[in-house]
Order: sequence, then C-alpha cells, then structure tokens
Amino acid sequence: MIKYDGYKDEVLHCARWLSEHGFFGAKLGSGGNVSRIDRADNRIVITPSGKPYHSMSVEDICVIDSKINLVEGALAPSIEAGMHTGIYQHRSDVNAVVHTHQVFASVFSLLNQPIPALLDEITYEIGPRVEIIPYAVSGSRQLIENVISKLGNGCLCYIIQNHGALSLGENLQQAMKNAELLEKVAQVYCYALSTGHDISRLPESAVQQVLDMRKSK
Ligand code: 13P
Ligand code: ZN
Repeated sequence: MIKYDGYKDEVLHCARWLSEHGFFGAKLGSGGNVSRIDRADNRIVITPSGKPYHSMSVEDICVIDSKINLVEGALAPSIEAGMHTGIYQHRSDVNAVVHTHQVFASVFSLLNQPIPALLDEITYEIGPRVEIIPYAVSGSRQLIENVISKLGNGCLCYIIQNHGALSLGENLQQAMKNAELLEKVAQVYCYALSTGHDISRLPESAVQQVLDMRKSK
C-alpha cells in the first residue's frame, strides 16, 4: 500500500544510518530496532526482527497495529514491538522510537548508573537526566512494564540496564539526533569518570533555566 511508503523509507534510512555509524553495536548485525507511528490511524511502521540492516530493503519494513498484528510486510516485526507500542500509548509527544545497542550508553547500562545534567545542549534536547530502566529479558512483558514505569519524567532518552538505549522524538530525525547526543554525553562522561577526578555538573539553577527554555520550545 502506498500509504506507508514514506514512513517505510524514513525507517529504513534511519536504521541504515544508525547501523553504519555503529549505533547497533555490530555494523553487520541486526541488534536494535526503529519505528514511526502514524497517529491518524494508529499504525506503527517498524523494522523486522533479526534481519541485518545492510541487507534490509523497504519491502522488509513491517506495518503493525497497536496490538502488534501485522498489517503489511512478509517478515515478523521486531521482538521489541510491544516496547515501541507501549511508548506510543504512554507518550503522546513521541512519534518515533529508536532502540540501539550503542557502546558508550551501554557502559552506563552495565554500571547501572544514570547520566545526570552535565552539558546544557543535552539537557535542552533530552531532559535533565538519562534514567536507567531496570533489566528484563529482551522482548518480555516485564521489559515493556519497566520501560512504561519510567516514561513519566518526559525525557527523550533512557538507558536499559545490561542491554542498550532508547531514544525518542517527535519524528525520526529528532529520535536519531537524540541517540547521537546521548552517545556524545555518555562518551564524555565515561572519559571524565575514567580520570578519577571530581566531575563538574551543571548548577541546579542552570538546569532549571534550560528546562524552562525547553518547555517553551
Ligand atoms: P529485533 O531484531 O527483533 O528487533 O531485536 C533486536 C533487539 O535489539 C532486541 O532487544
Ligand atoms: Zn536490544
């Protein structure tokens, strides 16, 4: 059907870009997943499960409904489809979701340590703190519940304990950019922590000022 072709192109382009830039961990692998919702009819355009990105074509991209029934496509949708639909149900500001296995954010997934407000460009785009979502097995109902339990803070990035990251956006371009900003702050924080010196955080008053600017964006 022509209707979702534009979104399918966007999802494929985004998944390929993230893969080629190492956001899925292995450039030849199939880790991570990408989706975009069409709010008009509540259909979700999402990457298929287990297919390497370098060999993925636009025909491989799936369209599902909110109950994860396949509406279009020949392949099974991502095993994390429930996580994507759960996010769309609980965050009306979000129309695109990028789940990655990016390296530096994954360091904090093992440390089980959130990333506080460190750089104002990040706080402005993503929010005050990148929270950790407690671990549950990939694709499980428990993981969906754990994700949903953290969405209330309104932030656009999260780290999944012992797994990877989630970056959200109003559209795919924004979700992709947030994944990139998350990787930048995680990398800088990781290098800073590795020196053993004290870390300078943004002052609370600056965080508040930036969050006020964010609200009136
Ligand atoms: P899919 O290939 O099914 O999308 O799963 C990849 C993944 O990242 C699971 O968490
Ligand atoms: Zn994953």
